[in-house]
Amino acid sequence: MSALTDLLFPNPLPSVEELEARYPARSLPQGAKVTRVAPSPTGYMHIGTMYTGLVCERLAHQSGGVFILRIEDTDQKRQIPGATELIASSLDSYGLKIDEGVCPDMRQKGAYGPYIQSQRKEIYQAYVKKLVEEGKAYPCFCTSEDMDALRKQQEASGARPGYHGQWTKCRYLSEEDAIRKIKEGIPYVIRFKSEGDYNRRIVIEDVLRGKRDFPENDLDIVLLKSDGLPTYHFAHVVDDHLMGTNQVIRGDEWVSSLPLHIQLFAAMGWKAPKYGHLAPIQKLDEGAKRKLSKRKDPEAGMSFYDEQGYPKQAVLEYLLNIANSNFEDWRRQNPVKPMNDFPFSLKKMGISGALMDFVKLNSVSRDTISHMTAEEVYENALAWAEKYDEELAGLMKNNRDYVLAILNIERNPSGKGRKDIQVWAQLKDELSYFFEDRFQGVPDTLNPEEAAPIARDFLKVYDPSDDKDAWFEKLKEVATQNGYAGSTKEYKEAPEKFKGNISDAATILRLLITGRSQSPDLFAIMQVLGKDRVTARLNRVLS
Ligand code: GLU
Repeated sequence: MSALTDLLFPNPLPSVEELEARYPARSLPQGAKVTRVAPSPTGYMHIGTMYTGLVCERLAHQSGGVFILRIEDTDQKRQIPGATELIASSLDSYGLKIDEGVCPDMRQKGAYGPYIQSQRKEIYQAYVKKLVEEGKAYPCFCTSEDMDALRKQQEASGARPGYHGQWTKCRYLSEEDAIRKIKEGIPYVIRFKSEGDYNRRIVIEDVLRGKRDFPENDLDIVLLKSDGLPTYHFAHVVDDHLMGTNQVIRGDEWVSSLPLHIQLFAAMGWKAPKYGHLAPIQKLDEGAKRKLSKRKDPEAGMSFYDEQGYPKQAVLEYLLNIANSNFEDWRRQNPVKPMNDFPFSLKKMGISGALMDFVKLNSVSRDTISHMTAEEVYENALAWAEKYDEELAGLMKNNRDYVLAILNIERNPSGKGRKDIQVWAQLKDELSYFFEDRFQGVPDTLNPEEAAPIARDFLKVYDPSDDKDAWFEKLKEVATQNGYAGSTKEYKEAPEKFKGNISDAATILRLLITGRSQSPDLFAIMQVLGKDRVTARLNRVLS
């Protein structure tokens, strides 16, 4: 075979022995998982990549293993500048820290690299060369017209499509013919010579789906394309072997390729990793579930969550919720523990695709923000605003201490604090009534004749140095003077005697001061607003 392999691979390639020595087996503790997330750089960060990344990261880091980011760019037609940085920096900014692979600054770290497939060309070629030498692979000169003709013939005769069995024309070329064609400059690919029999079945265990049987693979798939780069099938086999991956987690579109992948590992004489296939995240579209689509659904891209202003931590926790539904209970019992303390388990993963549920995401997000300190809310919101809302960023920067005081209202990071903020974008509105030039005034529904006496009487007794109890006593006094019940009990006993309950009087005061009927604690708001602003607001209705 050497005349043929020399022609197929004229450039010097490393020997297989050199490669095995360059990438020695890892020595890791018992049970440590080596995982990788292996996206193609298409210029888009799909939520599914983040989800797979999270599962891989948890499996690796929970077991003392290794988490790798590998860039699968063998489809050069689909290359987009900046796409790899986007993936690396997204994972990093969401806190999924890799041990090996491509970093956000495009440097690569780890001893098993390069981690960008197009930079591993000669590694793949070295192994394909070996397969050709062993008679397990061969050059195929079929053109796209030949392949079209093959498809038509198969259709006409009702045969199963693909390059298999009697249809593998180039498998039967003599070495002399192959050499002649190469010398004539006819382009070729290199195909795998499958020994599989479609009528035999093999049983394969998926770590998420359990055991399943499949027909053996009998397709002579392409290993190396005419540009000298490998196909996904072959590249991932070589990489996962050399990088020591022992647990592959990937999308379920690859399930049907499992027999081929197991067969390729066997042909190479290597132990296959364990495989687990994740169902994609779905959405309801006119009552039917479907996969999130990059084209149709903005929420399929991670940039959507950034723009909306979801804290990264919240999105990640939501994804963990999808991955392990018992995370929710755990979170309830451990409201402030770091998410990574949760014992993630493959066994708890469902196999049908979870629905993207914004009600749930919003609630996770409100919880996440409620457990942040005012400083954390400030820093995160400001970082968001600097990217997406300059005006809000300016307001926050020019009034740092005041904004921190506002954010501190009813804040209790270690317990049950205010839960009204779910995205950073909301902050502009939440801050608005604390600034005179942004305060929108009271709504038309507030009757000035009802409101004015409350404002007038409250102003008479208002003392900004009052504590909450004293403040409340004064509110009660003002309420009863104006014909409201001083307590709910009183009101319930004889509602006809009153204009309303104490809470109705409080709502009037709240409306006068904030312009809204719902707000965080009014006493705390008034403290933060301070005497001048409070007085000015109450005087508005009197003038
Ligand atoms: N590049 C493949 C994809 O994006 C990766 C599959 C895998 O993780 O092996 O689907």
